[in-house]
Amino acid sequence: MASGTDNPYRLLPSVDEVLRDASVAPLAPEVGRAVLRTFAQRLVEAWREEIRAGDLDAQGLEARLAGGGLGESMRSLVQRDRARGIRRAVNVSGVVLNTGLGRAPVHPEVAARMEEAARSFCVLEVDRVSGERNRRDDRISELLGRLVGCEAGIAVNNNAGAALLTMHALATGQEAVVSRGELVEIGGSFRVPEVMAAAGVRLVEVGATNRTRIEDYEAALTAETGLLMKVHPSNFRVVGFTSEVDPAAMAELGRRREVATAWDLGSGLIELPTMSPLGERVGGETEVAQAVDSGVDVVTFSGDKLLGAPQAGLCVGRREAIARLRRDPMYRALRCDKVTLAGLEATLELLLAGRGDELPARRMLLAEGESLEPVAQRLASALEALGFEACSEPGQSQPGSGSAPGVFLAGPVVRVVDPARSAGTLAAALRAMDPPVFARVHDDAVRVDPRTLLPGDEEALLAAFARLAGSAG
Ligand SMILES: *Cc1c(COP(=O)(O)O)cnc(C)c1O
Repeated sequence: MASGTDNPYRLLPSVDEVLRDASVAPLAPEVGRAVLRTFAQRLVEAWREEIRAGDLDAQGLEARLAGGGLGESMRSLVQRDRARGIRRAVNVSGVVLNTGLGRAPVHPEVAARMEEAARSFCVLEVDRVSGERNRRDDRISELLGRLVGCEAGIAVNNNAGAALLTMHALATGQEAVVSRGELVEIGGSFRVPEVMAAAGVRLVEVGATNRTRIEDYEAALTAETGLLMKVHPSNFRVVGFTSEVDPAAMAELGRRREVATAWDLGSGLIELPTMSPLGERVGGETEVAQAVDSGVDVVTFSGDKLLGAPQAGLCVGRREAIARLRRDPMYRALRCDKVTLAGLEATLELLLAGRGDELPARRMLLAEGESLEPVAQRLASALEALGFEACSEPGQSQPGSGSAPGVFLAGPVVRVVDPARSAGTLAAALRAMDPPVFARVHDDAVRVDPRTLLPGDEEALLAAFARLAGSAG
């Protein structure tokens, strides 16, 4: 047992000694003195804990302290800290719109417009001709009109915000009628009944889980009704004996009884004659333009799902209804910043220019399995050469973000086995790389899906595997 000079506690440096160490001091300018002190405290505490648990003796500690060892330990704490936060990642998870990985990556030209807006002054809320104040999303409204045929549109932070704003502006203090089949939870934190409550709207449920008729909506109308609403059940599907209310019938009922109508569409599918059709591939989603055509006052959808734009929520529809949203104080709290607006404008302009198929998310969703086969083959050979077992096999990707439940996109995936690690350990090691690589684990193998690779990702992916090749743990 430890005693005398063998007592590891005696060798344990104090926090001040760590900070004074010649190998540690150079780290101070990188992270700041105060932060470095907290890292030093953490290191000393962790080592003390190891000693207490009997996992570290005097010899072991001596080895750690030798030859700039303190500096190395501290540097690794600094590096681990740096690696936290928002960083580029390589997505080979097979989920295109992966909420954990930031959903849709934007087009490089869109990113350039966002960067310019971020680092410069920009014409945001001022008219260039008169110099007077105007509205920041007039241009978005105009572009959305051209794209989906709405009278007006506005953009807010995300689609949850768009739905919240719509409910609040059109029905706060009143009742909103929703089908029992559409009281869904999306992405864990968007629950229709809870959003309604947050908007100060009393929910009136009608119909049954599987069937709701327009008569159910009509029967629920009272002097207190402010809104008739439809919600796309996005991430789940009711099959069998089902019927949902026809949005055009709901819109007609709303007009006849002078009650506002809204449709939360979720995924934001846009089709144009200049682009490859996407709707069928993602399970027959309703197009935004069709939803607008139904005559519903407000249609809401996400910017970063099928639209392939930055994160945003878009509200489109009738001029008067959109004006009510704009007047609502909640709009001021939910509105987009200049960077997002610049990205949205640039994305909508690309679509209008007939270049929608260039948007990365759309391109990934549209990619045919055959076009991905050469990439999968190339990756498999490169991984084999690095000493992994790798082969291309038929697989499936998913659109993701609840944008198309039960829809799978056929294509090759590379099945990778590391002779030195379990699949779970390999996947974790890949996530620890720089940039981190996110792959799926299935049947004791790591699956690398080439569908979601962006330019430059293939090199980063292979570099990550190369660093792990031939090393264990
Ligand atoms: C995804 C989705 C939302 C939430 O949208 P965010 O942009 O993630 O806030 C709301 N409603 C529906 C129907 C959705 O599909």
